[in-house]
Amino acid sequence: MTGRAVPLGDTAPWFGGQVTVHATCVLARNPSPMTLDGTNTWVVRSDDEVVVIDPGPDAPSHLAAIERQVAGSLVTRILLTHGHPDHAEGAVALAHRVGAPVLALDPAHRLGDEGLADGDVVEVGDLTVRIVATPGHTDDSLSFHLEADRALITGDTVLGRGSTVIAHPEGRLADYLSSLHRLRDLAESSDAAVVLPGHGPALLDPAGAVSAYLAHREQRLDQVRAALDSGARTADDVVEVVYADVPRELWPAARLSVLAQLDYLQP
Ligand SMILES: [Zn+2]
Repeated sequence: MTGRAVPLGDTAPWFGGQVTVHATCVLARNPSPMTLDGTNTWVVRSDDEVVVIDPGPDAPSHLAAIERQVAGSLVTRILLTHGHPDHAEGAVALAHRVGAPVLALDPAHRLGDEGLADGDVVEVGDLTVRIVATPGHTDDSLSFHLEADRALITGDTVLGRGSTVIAHPEGRLADYLSSLHRLRDLAESSDAAVVLPGHGPALLDPAGAVSAYLAHREQRLDQVRAALDSGARTADDVVEVVYADVPRELWPAARLSVLAQLDYLQP
Protein backbone atom coordinates (compact mmCIF):
# COMPACT_ATOMS: atom_id res chain seq x y z
CA MET A 1 0.00 0.00 0.00
CA THR A 2 1.31 3.41 -0.82
CA GLY A 3 -0.53 6.65 -1.23
CA ARG A 4 -0.17 10.03 -2.75
CA ALA A 5 -0.40 13.14 -0.67
CA VAL A 6 1.14 15.85 -2.82
CA PRO A 7 2.87 15.61 -6.15
CA LEU A 8 6.62 15.47 -5.60
CA GLY A 9 7.87 13.37 -8.49
CA ASP A 10 7.44 14.07 -12.15
CA THR A 11 4.18 13.40 -13.89
CA ALA A 12 5.57 11.66 -16.95
CA PRO A 13 3.89 8.40 -17.90
CA TRP A 14 5.65 5.31 -16.62
CA PHE A 15 5.65 1.95 -18.35
CA GLY A 16 8.58 0.16 -16.70
CA GLY A 17 11.32 -1.39 -18.81
CA GLN A 18 15.08 -1.36 -18.46
CA VAL A 19 16.31 1.57 -16.34
CA THR A 20 19.92 0.76 -15.45
CA VAL A 21 22.51 -1.62 -16.89
CA HIS A 22 21.33 -4.48 -14.67
CA ALA A 23 17.81 -3.51 -13.49
CA THR A 24 14.58 -3.80 -15.45
CA CYS A 25 11.06 -3.04 -14.24
CA VAL A 26 8.15 -5.30 -15.11
CA LEU A 27 5.17 -3.05 -14.35
CA ALA A 28 2.15 -4.83 -12.87
CA ARG A 29 -1.24 -3.92 -14.29
CA ASN A 30 -2.71 -3.00 -10.92
CA PRO A 31 -2.91 0.79 -11.10
CA SER A 32 -5.03 2.55 -8.49
CA PRO A 33 -4.91 5.68 -6.35
CA MET A 34 -2.99 3.59 -3.80
CA THR A 35 -0.61 1.83 -6.18
CA LEU A 36 -0.06 4.75 -8.58
CA ASP A 37 0.91 3.33 -12.01
CA GLY A 38 0.95 -0.20 -10.57
CA THR A 39 3.56 -2.20 -8.68
CA ASN A 40 7.12 -2.16 -9.97
CA THR A 41 8.64 -5.64 -10.07
CA TRP A 42 12.41 -5.22 -10.41
CA VAL A 43 14.51 -7.84 -12.16
CA VAL A 44 18.23 -7.58 -11.42
CA ARG A 45 20.31 -9.54 -13.90
CA SER A 46 23.98 -10.44 -14.06
CA ASP A 47 25.45 -12.47 -16.92
CA ASP A 48 23.75 -15.70 -15.93
CA GLU A 49 21.80 -15.10 -12.72
CA VAL A 50 18.71 -13.14 -11.84
CA VAL A 51 16.92 -12.02 -8.70
CA VAL A 52 13.32 -10.80 -8.74
CA ILE A 53 12.40 -8.04 -6.29
CA ASP A 54 8.71 -7.67 -5.34
CA PRO A 55 6.79 -10.09 -7.58
CA GLY A 56 3.69 -7.97 -7.05
CA PRO A 57 0.09 -9.16 -7.22
CA ASP A 58 -0.77 -12.82 -7.69
CA ALA A 59 -1.99 -12.24 -11.25
CA PRO A 60 -1.18 -14.90 -13.86
CA SER A 61 -0.56 -12.32 -16.59
CA HIS A 62 1.95 -10.43 -14.43
CA LEU A 63 3.74 -13.60 -13.31
CA ALA A 64 3.96 -14.66 -16.95
CA ALA A 65 5.45 -11.28 -17.86
CA ILE A 66 8.09 -11.74 -15.14
CA GLU A 67 8.87 -15.22 -16.47
CA ARG A 68 9.36 -13.82 -19.96
CA GLN A 69 11.75 -11.21 -18.55
CA VAL A 70 13.88 -13.79 -16.72
CA ALA A 71 13.83 -16.39 -19.49
CA GLY A 72 17.26 -17.89 -20.15
CA SER A 73 18.66 -16.99 -16.72
CA LEU A 74 18.76 -18.86 -13.45
CA VAL A 75 16.49 -17.18 -10.89
CA THR A 76 18.39 -17.64 -7.65
CA ARG A 77 16.18 -15.69 -5.25
CA ILE A 78 13.00 -13.65 -4.91
CA LEU A 79 13.40 -10.68 -2.56
CA LEU A 80 10.67 -8.62 -0.88
CA THR A 81 11.00 -4.97 0.12
CA HIS A 82 8.08 -5.56 2.55
CA GLY A 83 5.03 -7.73 3.00
CA HIS A 84 2.19 -5.58 1.64
CA PRO A 85 0.11 -7.67 -0.76
CA ASP A 86 0.64 -5.44 -3.79
CA HIS A 87 4.35 -6.33 -3.52
CA ALA A 88 4.34 -9.80 -1.98
CA GLU A 89 1.11 -11.57 -2.88
CA GLY A 90 2.52 -13.25 -6.01
CA ALA A 91 5.78 -14.36 -4.37
CA VAL A 92 4.85 -17.94 -3.57
CA ALA A 93 3.29 -18.55 -6.98
CA LEU A 94 6.36 -17.14 -8.72
CA ALA A 95 8.63 -19.18 -6.45
CA HIS A 96 6.90 -22.34 -7.61
CA ARG A 97 7.07 -21.29 -11.25
CA VAL A 98 10.80 -20.52 -11.24
CA GLY A 99 12.03 -22.74 -8.41
CA ALA A 100 13.55 -20.02 -6.21
CA PRO A 101 13.17 -19.20 -2.50
CA VAL A 102 11.50 -16.04 -1.18
CA LEU A 103 13.58 -13.89 1.16
CA ALA A 104 12.09 -11.17 3.36
CA LEU A 105 12.71 -9.52 6.70
CA ASP A 106 9.45 -10.85 8.12
CA PRO A 107 9.61 -14.66 8.47
CA ALA A 108 5.89 -14.82 7.66
CA HIS A 109 6.64 -13.79 4.09
CA ARG A 110 9.59 -16.14 3.45
CA LEU A 111 9.63 -19.36 1.52
CA GLY A 112 12.68 -21.42 2.39
CA ASP A 113 15.29 -21.09 5.11
CA GLU A 114 16.93 -17.80 4.13
CA GLY A 115 15.93 -14.42 5.53
CA LEU A 116 16.99 -10.87 4.90
CA ALA A 117 18.34 -8.46 7.48
CA ASP A 118 20.13 -5.14 7.62
CA GLY A 119 23.70 -5.43 6.38
CA ASP A 120 23.15 -8.67 4.46
CA VAL A 121 24.67 -8.95 1.01
CA VAL A 122 22.91 -10.88 -1.76
CA GLU A 123 25.17 -11.93 -4.62
CA VAL A 124 23.66 -12.00 -8.09
CA GLY A 125 26.45 -13.55 -10.14
CA ASP A 126 29.18 -10.94 -9.89
CA LEU A 127 26.75 -8.21 -8.70
CA THR A 128 26.25 -7.17 -5.11
CA VAL A 129 22.92 -6.17 -3.59
CA ARG A 130 23.32 -4.73 -0.09
CA ILE A 131 20.33 -4.84 2.26
CA VAL A 132 19.44 -1.67 4.17
CA ALA A 133 16.70 -1.73 6.82
CA THR A 134 14.39 1.25 6.24
CA PRO A 135 11.42 0.80 8.61
CA GLY A 136 8.64 3.40 8.79
CA HIS A 137 6.22 2.75 5.93
CA THR A 138 5.98 -0.66 7.62
CA ASP A 139 8.25 -2.14 10.26
CA ASP A 140 9.51 -4.77 7.81
CA SER A 141 10.50 -2.32 5.04
CA LEU A 142 13.88 -2.85 3.39
CA SER A 143 15.77 -1.01 0.68
CA PHE A 144 18.36 -2.57 -1.60
CA HIS A 145 21.57 -0.96 -2.81
CA LEU A 146 22.61 -2.24 -6.24
CA GLU A 147 26.11 -0.91 -6.06
CA ALA A 148 27.23 -1.59 -9.63
CA ASP A 149 24.42 0.61 -10.98
CA ARG A 150 24.58 3.21 -8.16
CA ALA A 151 20.89 2.40 -7.69
CA LEU A 152 18.68 2.39 -4.58
CA ILE A 153 15.69 0.06 -4.76
CA THR A 154 13.36 1.55 -2.16
CA GLY A 155 10.02 -0.30 -2.20
CA ASP A 156 7.41 1.99 -0.68
CA THR A 157 9.90 3.97 1.43
CA VAL A 158 10.49 6.37 -1.47
CA LEU A 159 8.06 6.41 -4.39
CA GLY A 160 8.41 7.69 -7.93
CA ARG A 161 5.52 10.09 -7.39
CA GLY A 162 3.77 11.58 -4.38
CA SER A 163 4.63 10.61 -0.84
CA THR A 164 4.45 7.47 1.24
CA VAL A 165 1.78 6.48 3.74
CA ILE A 166 3.05 5.71 7.21
CA ALA A 167 0.91 2.63 7.77
CA HIS A 168 0.00 3.23 11.42
CA PRO A 169 0.22 1.40 13.80
CA GLU A 170 2.82 -0.89 12.24
CA GLY A 171 4.56 1.97 10.49
CA ARG A 172 6.05 4.63 12.75
CA LEU A 173 7.00 8.16 11.80
CA ALA A 174 10.12 8.33 14.00
CA ASP A 175 11.42 5.19 12.27
CA TYR A 176 10.51 6.60 8.90
CA LEU A 177 12.37 9.86 9.45
CA SER A 178 15.44 7.90 10.64
CA SER A 179 15.23 5.72 7.53
CA LEU A 180 15.04 8.76 5.25
CA HIS A 181 18.13 10.24 6.92
CA ARG A 182 19.90 6.93 6.51
CA LEU A 183 18.95 6.73 2.83
CA ARG A 184 20.09 10.27 2.21
CA ASP A 185 23.45 9.58 3.89
CA LEU A 186 23.81 6.43 1.80
CA ALA A 187 22.84 8.24 -1.40
CA GLU A 188 25.41 10.94 -0.71
CA SER A 189 28.24 8.67 0.44
CA SER A 190 27.78 6.21 -2.42
CA ASP A 191 27.06 8.88 -5.01
CA ALA A 192 23.81 7.08 -5.84
CA ALA A 193 22.46 8.04 -9.23
CA VAL A 194 18.93 6.64 -9.33
CA VAL A 195 16.01 5.53 -7.13
CA LEU A 196 14.16 2.47 -8.39
CA PRO A 197 10.92 2.80 -6.39
CA GLY A 198 8.09 0.39 -5.63
CA HIS A 199 5.62 2.47 -7.63
CA GLY A 200 6.01 5.18 -10.24
CA PRO A 201 8.97 6.23 -12.35
CA ALA A 202 12.63 5.94 -11.49
CA LEU A 203 14.01 9.11 -9.91
CA LEU A 204 17.32 10.72 -10.68
CA ASP A 205 19.05 12.59 -7.85
CA PRO A 206 18.28 10.20 -4.96
CA ALA A 207 19.69 12.50 -2.29
CA GLY A 208 17.52 15.34 -3.57
CA ALA A 209 14.44 13.11 -3.72
CA VAL A 210 14.94 11.99 -0.12
CA SER A 211 15.52 15.58 0.99
CA ALA A 212 12.19 16.52 -0.61
CA TYR A 213 10.51 13.72 1.34
CA LEU A 214 12.01 14.97 4.58
CA ALA A 215 10.87 18.53 3.84
CA HIS A 216 7.38 17.26 3.00
CA ARG A 217 7.18 15.36 6.30
CA GLU A 218 8.25 18.45 8.26
CA GLN A 219 5.65 20.50 6.42
CA ARG A 220 2.89 17.98 7.23
CA LEU A 221 3.95 17.88 10.88
CA ASP A 222 3.74 21.66 11.06
CA GLN A 223 0.28 21.50 9.49
CA VAL A 224 -0.85 18.84 11.98
CA ARG A 225 0.45 20.92 14.91
CA ALA A 226 -1.40 23.95 13.54
CA ALA A 227 -4.61 21.94 13.11
CA LEU A 228 -4.39 20.74 16.72
CA ASP A 229 -3.75 24.31 17.89
CA SER A 230 -6.88 25.44 16.03
CA GLY A 231 -9.08 22.91 17.75
CA ALA A 232 -8.88 19.69 15.75
CA ARG A 233 -9.60 16.89 18.18
CA THR A 234 -9.66 13.65 16.21
CA ALA A 235 -7.63 12.14 13.39
CA ASP A 236 -10.57 12.76 11.07
CA ASP A 237 -10.63 16.45 12.06
CA VAL A 238 -6.94 16.70 11.19
CA VAL A 239 -7.38 14.92 7.85
CA GLU A 240 -10.13 17.34 6.83
CA VAL A 241 -7.85 20.31 7.41
CA VAL A 242 -4.39 19.05 6.52
CA TYR A 243 -5.30 16.79 3.61
CA ALA A 244 -7.94 19.06 2.09
CA ASP A 245 -5.80 19.14 -1.08
CA VAL A 246 -5.88 15.35 -1.44
CA PRO A 247 -8.65 13.45 -3.24
CA ARG A 248 -11.21 12.09 -0.76
CA GLU A 249 -10.63 8.52 -1.87
CA LEU A 250 -7.15 8.81 -0.35
CA TRP A 251 -8.36 10.06 3.02
CA PRO A 252 -8.42 6.60 4.64
CA ALA A 253 -4.71 6.31 3.81
CA ALA A 254 -4.09 9.90 4.91
CA ARG A 255 -5.80 9.05 8.20
CA LEU A 256 -3.19 6.34 8.84
CA SER A 257 -0.43 8.88 8.29
CA VAL A 258 -2.23 11.34 10.59
CA LEU A 259 -2.47 8.70 13.30
CA ALA A 260 1.27 8.08 12.85
CA GLN A 261 1.94 11.80 13.13
CA LEU A 262 -0.25 12.18 16.24
CA ASP A 263 1.59 9.22 17.77
CA TYR A 264 4.90 10.92 16.93
CA LEU A 265 3.82 14.27 18.40
CA GLN A 266 2.58 12.79 21.68
CA PRO A 267 4.96 13.66 24.50
ZN1 LIG B 1 3.51 -0.90 1.04
